[in-house]
Amino acid sequence: MIVLLPIVIGLSIIIYLMSKPYLLEHKRNNIKKLPFKKEWRKIIQKRMPYFKQMPTDLQLQLKQHIQVFIAEKEFVGCNGVEITDEIKITIAAQACLLLLNRKTNYYPKLKTILIYPGAFTKVQNQQAVDGTQQTKRINLSGESWDFGKVVLSWQDSVHGAELPHDGHNVVIHEFAHQLDQENGRANGAPTLGKEQNYQSWSDTFSKQFKLLQRQAAANIPSLFDYYGATNPAEFFAVVSEVFFEKSEQFAKEHPELYQQLTGYYKVDPIHW
Ligand SMILES: [Zn+2]
Repeated sequence: MIVLLPIVIGLSIIIYLMSKPYLLEHKRNNIKKLPFKKEWRKIIQKRMPYFKQMPTDLQLQLKQHIQVFIAEKEFVGCNGVEITDEIKITIAAQACLLLLNRKTNYYPKLKTILIYPGAFTKVQNQQAVDGTQQTKRINLSGESWDFGKVVLSWQDSVHGAELPHDGHNVVIHEFAHQLDQENGRANGAPTLGKEQNYQSWSDTFSKQFKLLQRQAAANIPSLFDYYGATNPAEFFAVVSEVFFEKSEQFAKEHPELYQQLTGYYKVDPIHW
């Protein structure tokens, strides 16, 4: 009997590990079946004006994703912020826009969302022109870490949602980074769907990224914020903001890139 014990333990562990994804999916399906509170719907309608224009099936999907998201992620208030349903739903609704119509594991690396009342300060070490290290304080509205955290300014998160056509949305920006970080460090190349082609993604993205770099260097106006020219990861996050917020202009001015993003995000916000 004692000889068999390690085999029984080993088998139990294997069975547990194999059934884990199914158990998780089962749990999520049960969460999705729970009634969506009326107060939550009111928060979305108040904070996310274009929700009402979204097709009904996407509205339903979004609400179900929000339920799973708030059940699984921890929200932590910083500098006096008290976490409320309004904060959770407003953030979750924007973050889950990026998950519609796709097979999703709900930002699996992300555990905690830290909420600051407004822009927060970060101390950063930077190399000066003369080679010396300098400490600089920078103000940020959001940040995405690759070890389980997203940091957001509540003021900027609200602002990003209530102005849906200005092309700036800090929540979409930081969660695009989270998608990009699912397969390693953010580099502008998230895991693509089976029907997408990495080569054509890379060709289109690098062509457009270089174009933005040239425009930023020469101060030529662009639909995309110059911040996207910092590196390919920022480019992906910046174009994701514009994809959801200025879709019509995006599709007209950068059709190839727009097509790559409709292939990736599996939605076409032009119709919202
Ligand atoms: Zn960024």
